[in-house]
Amino acid sequence: MPEMIDLLSCLRCGRCRAVCPTLESLGWESMGPRGRIMLCLGYLEGAGWIEGVSDSLYTCTTCGACSFICPSGVDVDSIVEYLRREYLKSHKDGRIEEMYEAIRIYGNPMGDTRSRWWWLEGVNGITLRRRSDIIYFAGCLLSYRSREVAVSTLKILADFGVALLEDERCCGSPLLRLGVENPPTMEDNIRQIEESGAELILTSCPGCYMTLKNDYNLDCSVMHTAEFFSEHLDEIDPGRLGITVTYHDPCHLARGEGVIEEPRAVIERICKLREMKRNRELSGCCGGGGGVRSGYHNLSRAITVRRLEDVPPDADLIVTTCPLCIINLSDGGGNVIDLAQLIERSKM
Ligand code: SF4
Ligand code: SF4
Repeated sequence: MPEMIDLLSCLRCGRCRAVCPTLESLGWESMGPRGRIMLCLGYLEGAGWIEGVSDSLYTCTTCGACSFICPSGVDVDSIVEYLRREYLKSHKDGRIEEMYEAIRIYGNPMGDTRSRWWWLEGVNGITLRRRSDIIYFAGCLLSYRSREVAVSTLKILADFGVALLEDERCCGSPLLRLGVENPPTMEDNIRQIEESGAELILTSCPGCYMTLKNDYNLDCSVMHTAEFFSEHLDEIDPGRLGITVTYHDPCHLARGEGVIEEPRAVIERICKLREMKRNRELSGCCGGGGGVRSGYHNLSRAITVRRLEDVPPDADLIVTTCPLCIINLSDGGGNVIDLAQLIERSKM
């Protein structure tokens, strides 16, 4: 719970206004960081919920750009997540209830009824261990919406002797970020990870990464595949490609977890890297996070289009390290691949 003092330390300087993608697209103060802080102040002072609060809270992509740039250290995205949790205590939201049921019944927010490991069907040349010190946690988006990224990643990781969880289920990130406490699948994953005895969990999804690392309280380490690839670059031994790519920093990986130089080290071993206009901690949001892609499609698309304007004109491809960014930027017309796919191409 944010302290009143944290909220009062907002100086209303407006610095965060320049970096908020939802304020830029929608224009209303209530759709930006300061408006969201005022909502929280009002709520904690007992003013209750004002009209339109749901849109103000749920249009935030939780990109963290405001918190990063704030001179007073106000953690705006955490405040938004806190307010969402409080809001759901007295309000129903059909979209969130539907997602909760899909995750409870099918283990993924899309309600996809296929087996979790359907994407491995027909894939040859990958030997997986039944047990290993390293577990690859594929996540819902890679498993059901980005099969090619999952396969490319596993082809690289198989050389390190990884295993998969027998019954991997949604990590819980989509519900946690929307304000739901105790998503129904977390305990199941935690039990399986503990029983596996693994020392390291790898994932390609920044949402899974943050959740496994910060919300699961595991005894083992958690790494994003970009960190692992960078650490094992000599063993992976990628080839060279005569292309120029640009790198899109996913908000939760770069600003959230500080994984910034690792993907760049991998890219620069393979080909030429040209930075996007906004990059590293100042990267622009893709528009997909915080539930905005599913709840506010037009807003999400406007933010995506704005982000694609940052792509240098001579870049052949956009490389990134987040399945949601890949889907979102591709839908907006970007030519986007995952870092694992770049490595795979370099070895062909
Ligand atoms: S949140 Fe920070 S940057 Fe934004 S108005 Fe308040 S003090 Fe300024
Ligand atoms: S987290 Fe991102 S979208 Fe949300 S208020 Fe801050 S800058 Fe705006």
